[in-house]
Amino acid sequence: MILILPQNQNMNKVLDIKDLTDSTYVIYLEKNIDFKPGQYITIGIDGYMREYSLYNSPEENHLELLVKQIQNGKLTTRLRKSIGQELIVMGPLGEFIIEENDLNKPFTFIATGTGISPFRSFVKSYDLDYQVIHGIRYANENYGIESFDSDKHILCVSRGEGKFKGRVTDYIKSIKLNPEGMYYLCGNAEMISEVGEILEEKVPLENIRNEVFF
Ligand SMILES: Cc1cc2nc3c(=O)[nH]c(=O)nc-3n(C[C@H](O)[C@H](O)[C@H](O)COP(=O)(O)OP(=O)(O)OC[C@H]3O[C@@H](n4cnc5c(N)ncnc54)[C@H](O)[C@@H]3O)c2cc1C
Repeated sequence: MILILPQNQNMNKVLDIKDLTDSTYVIYLEKNIDFKPGQYITIGIDGYMREYSLYNSPEENHLELLVKQIQNGKLTTRLRKSIGQELIVMGPLGEFIIEENDLNKPFTFIATGTGISPFRSFVKSYDLDYQVIHGIRYANENYGIESFDSDKHILCVSRGEGKFKGRVTDYIKSIKLNPEGMYYLCGNAEMISEVGEILEEKVPLENIRNEVFF
């Protein structure tokens, strides 16, 4: 039987899965799409479709996703056991990208948890002037740390040891904000709303970009 898929929809094989912590893993997929750093794809198994940011560079010949397994989560539980399976993949999607005109500006990337994913893709793809601020609960959730320059990477650990002990919001309140810089926020809605309010006091709205993982 020949399966005819709608435009912008592919079947991609799961090549490998690597656990980073008890609940978080990287999934490696066959690549048959082009994407821009910062974009996401929608993937599906057994009728459950969910969005995931691309974790690697478009220059590589496979796709990587950083996935947090949600307790009793419909897709993330199935995905973890999916090596060798074909997934439905739709995309690439999303506008959380860096415009060519902005590539020389200073960037502050602010993430919680797996929200670090598009920022790893940015720094693996472009030569940027950046600082990344990553909010996590425990030190072992420092996903992708090896891909960032250590002097440009601030871990904000709320329940363990890190460069900064506390939440991302507390760290942002403690630093001087450059109104000329670009600020990219990715992760949970609460962080994005709280940090967004702080930034908006000093930084023009057009310099702030958000991607909410809901
Ligand atoms: C644009 C976009 C990009 C995204 N990129 C990523 C990514 O790169 N990596 C990633 O891990 N996720 C990402 N997400 C979230 C992802 O799409 C799913 O929502 C998530 O993986 C839950 O899937 P699930 O089917 O296993 O859980 P579900 O069966 O949908 O949820 C089970 C229960 O858990 C709750 N829940 C869902 N997500 C969370 C969470 N994060 N924390 C706590 N409780 C939760 C739900 O409210 C529900 O009650 C992204 C979302 C969007 C919109």
